[in-house]
Amino acid sequence: LDGILSGKTIIIMGVANKNSIAWGCTQAILDQGAKVILTYQNDRIKKSLDRLVDDSIALVECDVSEDENIEKAFSQIEEQYGKVDGIVHAIAFADKETLEGGVLNTKKDGYNLAQDVSAYSFIAVSRYGAQIMNETGSIVTLTYFGSTRAIPNYNMMGIAKAALESSVRYLASDLGERHIRVNAISAGAIKTLAVTGIKHHRDLLKESQSRTVDGENVKTSEVGNVAAFLVSDLASGVTGDIIYVDKGVHLI
Ligand code: NAD
Repeated sequence: LDGILSGKTIIIMGVANKNSIAWGCTQAILDQGAKVILTYQNDRIKKSLDRLVDDSIALVECDVSEDENIEKAFSQIEEQYGKVDGIVHAIAFADKETLEGGVLNTKKDGYNLAQDVSAYSFIAVSRYGAQIMNETGSIVTLTYFGSTRAIPNYNMMGIAKAALESSVRYLASDLGERHIRVNAISAGAIKTLAVTGIKHHRDLLKESQSRTVDGENVKTSEVGNVAAFLVSDLASGVTGDIIYVDKGVHLI
């Protein structure tokens, strides 16, 4: 298939099921002609992926909570499939108690876990990912508006997203000389597994929908199309940026 990503290989991290933003990215990136490699967190997620994809898509295990896992997964990818051109990081986690308890009651363990998986992992992914990239490359992560606003119940995840967005800017600066671009997509609220961890998530989704310019929530396919653009050479001038794909929710 000919498209803006013909001849490119893209790693996509974070597909849990067909509702995942990473799955929207996978389809859009495949549609543009790229070869895709998916990484998954554990065996349970792999079972879900086995039902979703055929043999043309490589699956590699990578729980990002340990650096060694990321290093190992990426060297396995390089050995088996060669250098890559892009990475989409669509991973976040905070435990229920931390998310629901409010920022004031956040304990050190809960804080560290959320930062570790949701923000630090992006730094580690960029470090090891850059080592297996072609001459030019592009790394994209997913963030949310709760990084700069106090969105009800988003709590600790907002703090982690603020760190993630700052990391995008510093990593873009660090990797610029190597012609690797780093950006984030700030997606609007979408009903995925991760969102169900947020207290009163139905209210968040409803409120978000009421604030879009056309009264409809953004779709994973729409986020995916922007991810496809960002990992393509069409976006060669875009780095260190946070691109909103939220149907205008951030405007109001
Ligand atoms: P999702 O539940 O489908 O995806 C989250 C993924 O994170 C899962 O695949 C899970 O396996 C993975 N993950 C968690 N801990 C991991 C670990 N230790 N190692 C490896 N993988 C791990 O939910 P989603 O909404 O598609 O989330 C993807 C990204 O998009 C997240 O960063 C999320 O914060 C962000 N985001 C979501 C929304 C939304 O409304 N859904 C909005 C903006 C940004």
